[in-house]
Amino acid sequence: MRSQGLAPAAGQVLVRLEASGICHTDIHAANGDWPVKPSPPFVPGHEGVGIVEAVGDGVAATLVGTRVAIPWLGHACGECSYCVSGWETLCEQQRNTGYSVDGCYAEHTLADARYVVPVPDAVSSLDAVSSLDAAPLTCAGVTTYKAVKVAGVRPAERVAVFGIGGSGHLALQYARIAGGFTVAVDVEDDKLALARDLGADHTVNARTADPVTAIGELGGADVAIATAASPQSFQQAFASLRRGGRLVCVGLPADGVLSIPVFDLVLKGISVVGSIVGTRQDLTEVFALHAADRTRVIAETRKLDDVNDSFAEVLSGAVPARLVIEF
Ligand code: NAD
Ligand code: ZN
Ligand code: ZN
Repeated sequence: MRSQGLAPAAGQVLVRLEASGICHTDIHAANGDWPVKPSPPFVPGHEGVGIVEAVGDGVAATLVGTRVAIPWLGHACGECSYCVSGWETLCEQQRNTGYSVDGCYAEHTLADARYVVPVPDAVSSLDAVSSLDAAPLTCAGVTTYKAVKVAGVRPAERVAVFGIGGSGHLALQYARIAGGFTVAVDVEDDKLALARDLGADHTVNARTADPVTAIGELGGADVAIATAASPQSFQQAFASLRRGGRLVCVGLPADGVLSIPVFDLVLKGISVVGSIVGTRQDLTEVFALHAADRTRVIAETRKLDDVNDSFAEVLSGAVPARLVIEF
C-alpha cells in the first residue's frame, strides 16, 4: 500500500490504517454543522486503528509494528493547567483528528506519537481486541465511558440513554458496568431491540411514546446521557430527570440550544454538564474492559469508496450501532 508520500515529522508516527469508524461527528464536519468549522479540503475520521509503519525523530523505534488507536484528541500542549490536571481534553491548544488536522479516512495518516493509544494485543479469542472493535471504542467508547464517569453513576441508579447509535450502545454498557439500571431511548425499533440484547432494563421509542412520561412512570432518571443529535431529545432528557438528577450532554446537534427552566433546575437540584471525549488514560481503560470481555461492539464494515452512501445510511437510522471502514 502506498503511504502517499507521507513522512513522519519529529514527534510523529506514520500509521497504516486497518479500520476507521464513522462517527456522527464526521457527518457534522462534512456538513459544517458547528460554530467552529473545519477548513476544506481535509480528511475526516477520528476512530482510526492501524499499525505504526515509521516514526519521526524523537519517537522510540520500538513503536514500529505496534497497533495504535488515533482518537479525536490528536494533540494537546501537555503543559497547561488542563493538561497537567488530567483534563487534556479541555486543552486550548488541542488539535482534533479529522477536523483541524487530517484524519483516518485514508490508507495512511500521520499522528502525534504522544496522543495515539496502544491497542492491546489479541491474547486469545476471548480477550481479543480486533481493529474492527477497537475503532468504535476509540471515540464512541471513550466518550461514553467518560460520560458515565462524569455522571458519577452509582449502583442501582437509573440511567436513561437517549440515542442508541454508535455512542449510545456503548453508554448503555458502561452504565451497567457502573451498576446502573438502564433505560434506552431511540426512534428506531431495531436500536431498541439491540439495547434489550445488550441488557437494557427498559426501552422507549420516542417516536411513538413520550419518553418523559415513560421514564417518569419508572420514578425518573438519576442520570440522563444525551447522545442523539436532536435538540428535542436533549429537552426530553432534561425533563426525564428526578430530583438530584444529572444530565450529561454528549451529542452535538446542529443549532443545538438547550432551554432550561431555572426554577426546575434549582428546586430539583439538577446538574447539567457537557462531556467531551476522554483522555488517553480513559481509552486505555476502555480497551482493558473490552479485552476482559466486559463490552460488545456492534458494527458492520464498509469500503472507503462507499463513504457517502455510508453517511446516508447512518442518517437513515437503519444501521447497526456503528459502521467501520475496513482497509
Ligand atoms: P449515531 O448516528 O451513531 O447515533 C445517534 C442515535 O440517535 C441513532 O441511533 C438515532 O436513531 C438516534 N436518534 C435520532 N433522533 C433521536 C431522537 N429524537 N430521540 C432519540 N434517539 C434519536 O451518532 P453517534 O456517532 O453516536 O454521535 C451522536 C452525537 O454525539 C453526534 O452529534 C456526535 O457529533 C456527538 N459526539 C460527541 C462526542 C463528545 O465528545 N461529546 C463524541 C462523539 C460523538
Ligand atoms: Zn467521534
Ligand atoms: Zn494543554
